[in-house]
Amino acid sequence: MARVALVTGGTRGIGGAISKALQAAGYKVAANYAGNDEAAAKFKAETGIPVFKFDVGDFDASAAGVAAVEGEVGGIDILVNNAGITRDGFFHKMTKDQWSAVIRTNLDSLFNVTRPVIDGMRARSFGRIVVISSINGQKGQMGQVNYSASKAGDIGFVKALAQENANKGITVNAICPGYIGTEMVAAIDPEVLKAKILPQIPVGRLGDPSEIARAVVFLASDEGGFITGSTLTINGGQYFA
Ligand code: NDP
Repeated sequence: MARVALVTGGTRGIGGAISKALQAAGYKVAANYAGNDEAAAKFKAETGIPVFKFDVGDFDASAAGVAAVEGEVGGIDILVNNAGITRDGFFHKMTKDQWSAVIRTNLDSLFNVTRPVIDGMRARSFGRIVVISSINGQKGQMGQVNYSASKAGDIGFVKALAQENANKGITVNAICPGYIGTEMVAAIDPEVLKAKILPQIPVGRLGDPSEIARAVVFLASDEGGFITGSTLTINGGQYFA
């Protein structure tokens, strides 16, 4: 029986690439999204992957979303906590709303989605949890105190949860992408990208979402079973954690 994977924010960007790569690797995939119905419908039509709309920042909505996935697709064996947002601004100008939106979507979501999933994984003695963190959680990024804090939080979450569940066949790992060519990066001024960001990347280009997706497929596999609590850095040589 094919294992079941849930990818949060799995209908576009890095998450979309992860959903497609897991499907190609033989998993039954469910893709979550927040509100972009058009992108989700297009993704579903193209891939046949069922989509589930719920806000990962809301515990009750996430618990109901996980129950819907488990009812329609099956018990979740692989959870990819990928959904994330930015609300950039210097800290001395940052509003409470900018802070809270990022913490709830990027960090509270780890509790909200993983908590309803973990009991099933423990009962079945198998699980793979991958959290998509960021280079900016490792090194910090000016203008992103909220985002850097949330993404550094991902890494602590992974290290602690990995220890608690290692004896239950469950691995928990973080991936820290550098700059990847998605809509999140398209929001950056192209002149800033060319003049300031690309020169920092020794490989000389943005990463492709598929380059993150392939790493998720490996971590999800049986062969990845001895890798837990780790942080995988995929950033074209920009920063060595
Ligand atoms: P995108 O903005 O392209 O896509 C974000 C996805 O997350 C969408 O599917 C969106 O749903 C979903 N989402 C956002 N908020 C919520 C929510 N509250 N509940 C459920 N789903 C939500 O992002 P990327 O693909 O660029 O980023 C994916 C992850 O990778 C993020 O965690 C990001 O921080 C991280 N990352 C990205 C990097 C990059 O260079 N792009 C670099 C390092 C890390 P909808 O379509 O409905 O809006």
